Amino acid sequence: MTKGKIVKALSGFYYVEADDQVYQCRGRGLFRKQKINPLVGDDVEIDIQDDGDGYVVQVNERKNELIRPPVANIDQAIIVTSATQPEFNALLLDRFLVLVESNGIEPVIVISKMDLIDEKTNEKMMQFKKEYEKMGYPVLLSSAKVKEQADMIIPFIEGKTSVIAGQSGVGKSSLLNALKPGLNLETNIISESLGRGKHTTRHVELISLCGGHVADTPGFSSLEFTEIEVSDLTYYFPEMLERINDCKFRGCQHHKEPKCAVKEAVEIGEISSLRYNHYLQFLDEIHNRKPRY
Ligand code: GDP
Ligand code: ZN
Repeated sequence: MTKGKIVKALSGFYYVEADDQVYQCRGRGLFRKQKINPLVGDDVEIDIQDDGDGYVVQVNERKNELIRPPVANIDQAIIVTSATQPEFNALLLDRFLVLVESNGIEPVIVISKMDLIDEKTNEKMMQFKKEYEKMGYPVLLSSAKVKEQADMIIPFIEGKTSVIAGQSGVGKSSLLNALKPGLNLETNIISESLGRGKHTTRHVELISLCGGHVADTPGFSSLEFTEIEVSDLTYYFPEMLERINDCKFRGCQHHKEPKCAVKEAVEIGEISSLRYNHYLQFLDEIHNRKPRY
């Protein structure tokens, strides 16, 4: 048996990368009966036949799985947000951070299109980088057009399975193309499934890139907090989480409660009021969520 990873699933075949080769495999007949549905990203054991094709004989336990795109064992999400065109959007960045963190996936923030901005915006982006790094997030100031800047992402991709996330047009496909000459992902195509209501069912594939894997379809495209409870929101704001034990009330939502350590930290400027406002906005959104049936 050989260990491998499913990088593509198409027409009943699983394409399994093992020992730097890709084997076309069928699933074991038993899987259907056992209700095992192998997913792209699954770590598997395969049996290679004499003709070079193989059988997936075992699917190892999954660490996690995303529904859109359907990928298993995601280590991290690379959240791309542009410095300009479209304009830098901290609210959307915070929304992606909450969605990614609530799935138990590590975020990496990439601020793209740094080649397009003036000195003043550059300073603003440096300030953002400092702020978000203080919260514990890696932040890369990057550009798909400047090779050394695109290459800064390589160490983050190495040895991991990543999904890329971010609004349409921020440069997700361009970044991947810059990292892998010859990849030629059509720019803008990768983002077609982004945006509310538009849920394309195109298949997802893991691209082998810089010693790791990246899904070719963006994740977290629904942008809605359907799975998040009010009481959990603080967990996805690290700078608030580290203070909750100092709030007077257990389960403090840091809104109208007195003696709230988070609000005090906002008042003295230790927590960014912009982030706090985003938190309140999300809290309100979750409070007003229509019940799901
Ligand atoms: P996606 O929708 O997030 O995949 O974004 P694309 O990669 O399709 O990029 C959208 C547009 O922005 C394209 O016209 C790219 O050429 C352009 N673009 C992407 N990244 C950069 C960058 O770092 N610098 C500049 N100047 N343009 C970029
Ligand atoms: Zn509080």
